[in-house]
Amino acid sequence: MTEQEAIDYAREKLHYFDEAASLSCKEIGDGNLNYVFRVIDDKTGQSLIIKQAGPVARISDEFIVSPDRNRIETDILRLQGTLAPGYVPEVYHYDAEKNCVVMEDLSDYTILRAAFLKHETYPKLAEHLSTFLVETLVSTSDLVLNHKEKKELVKSFTNPELCEITEDLVYTEPFYAHPRNDVFLGTRHFVEREIWGDKILALETAKLKFQFLTNAQALLHGDLHTGSIFVTQDATKIIDPEFAFYGPAGYDVGTIIANLIFAYVNAEHTSEGPSERESFQAYITTTIETLIDSFKTKFIQAFEAKATEHVARYDGFLEHYLQSVLEDATAVAGLELCRRIIGIAKVADITSIANTEARTKAEITCLTLGKAFILDRAKYQTGTDITNALKGAT
Ligand code: ADP
Ligand code: MG
Ligand code: MG
Ligand code: MG
Repeated sequence: MTEQEAIDYAREKLHYFDEAASLSCKEIGDGNLNYVFRVIDDKTGQSLIIKQAGPVARISDEFIVSPDRNRIETDILRLQGTLAPGYVPEVYHYDAEKNCVVMEDLSDYTILRAAFLKHETYPKLAEHLSTFLVETLVSTSDLVLNHKEKKELVKSFTNPELCEITEDLVYTEPFYAHPRNDVFLGTRHFVEREIWGDKILALETAKLKFQFLTNAQALLHGDLHTGSIFVTQDATKIIDPEFAFYGPAGYDVGTIIANLIFAYVNAEHTSEGPSERESFQAYITTTIETLIDSFKTKFIQAFEAKATEHVARYDGFLEHYLQSVLEDATAVAGLELCRRIIGIAKVADITSIANTEARTKAEITCLTLGKAFILDRAKYQTGTDITNALKGAT
């Protein structure tokens, strides 16, 4: 779609704007995969978003990705909207021929990664995210769902091509000298020695990859980094769930933790002075701790209220289950910390650090922490387990 085609589409297909309205459109996509059009009524300011998926990734036609991801994104946005009301944009329309979804315009919100680059703080974020995670993960798991219904969902959210991107970019390529990696010169020696040269680390990533491939535990968002989170001081909305599929429940939790850590590390090297640095890092620390500890509390509450599987109520089962989810979350945080430094998809929190020496330090902090999270993943069971490690590595 071009911008003009998006206007025509809005006019002809959607009965949202006044027939005589004068409409403008801008393509505002900044992600790696899709095109995002904002159509606005010049007079009333009424607006909507059309997100369209093409047959290849926006950044590179090397990635052939089925536009069916747009159907998956639509279906999961609708499902998340019922499981966690208020935490996702409202879906207005889906078009299977044009592979586009029409949704609520959240332009009054800010993308969290951009806000974090300015060291802005959002006090309700951890409570909102922990609620979203628990409501979407617990209710789609075998703890709660009838197992046959769950298998129907597994079928419907089978997402082989986007899963392959994750399998390659998160679980595989960063951990050996793959040609697609993109290592910053200052960090190269550390990567060769501490990551690619470590056979024990390689073995643990292999175990984790097989867990990702086979553990259809809960319906995941699948790409929950800070670029997929829209915020205001009062509200949080999660966008871009096209990677959704049935995988290990700790995956989304771990991705968020790692991205909070990138923001913390960014502040270490780019703050205007010690007070900006200290207050932002204290905010991130509290956010990580609240996120993990509220996740646990809310998980237990949701289990008590909703679990239907008889054997899941045997003594000790919930503790076993939750402990393994947190272990997976820590491992995924570790993988994400490594892959955003070594692999092709970078995060601005780190790449925007202009000073070479500071960026090298920042990257080594992330890799050191990432490696510890992968190797010792069972040891991190509380928020402070994670934040103490973070403070120790910075
Ligand atoms: P991709 O899948 O290509 O990463 P995203 O869904 O992340 O696409 O959207 C890319 C960008 O488009 C976002 O960073 C945001 O700036 C904008 N965007 C996406 N959805 C909305 C929305 N509902 N309201 C306002 N802006 C949006
Ligand atoms: Mg943006
Ligand atoms: Mg995106
Ligand atoms: Mg996306």
